[in-house]
Amino acid sequence: MPRAVCPVCRKKTDVSLSEAVIGNRLHCPHCHALLEVVEEDPIELMEVFDDDFSWEDELEEER
Ligand SMILES: [Zn+2]
Repeated sequence: MPRAVCPVCRKKTDVSLSEAVIGNRLHCPHCHALLEVVEEDPIELMEVFDDDFSWEDELEEER
């Protein structure tokens, strides 16, 4: 299984071949950061800040 390094926690992360596709998103099993595959060989991951998920909405609900 290919391995990549999580850019957030710097730990090695197993990435299955079906997930190792540029643009695919996955969660780091160590720090649960949302990561996107930006390079396939070797696999390189980048942290993603999902625009669809609004932290502001979440905070407003708690008020
Ligand atoms: Zn991580």
